[in-house]
Amino acid sequence: MTCKKQKDCNCSYPCDKKGLCCECIAYHRKRGELPACYFSEEKEKTYDRSISNYLH
Ligand code: SF4
Repeated sequence: MTCKKQKDCNCSYPCDKKGLCCECIAYHRKRGELPACYFSEEKEKTYDRSISNYLH
């Protein structure tokens, strides 16, 4: 699948999947996690993409 690069990614982690939502979601989904765009600005900066971090 060709992933179209998005400009509005909020992820601050240096990552080659930044803006490539289909690759980013697949990566975190496999790990039981959520992508950066689920998190507030403050939580995003922790780089903890766990569902538990999302819920608390
Ligand atoms: S959320 Fe994860 S996979 Fe997506 S750009 Fe950020 S670090 Fe990379």
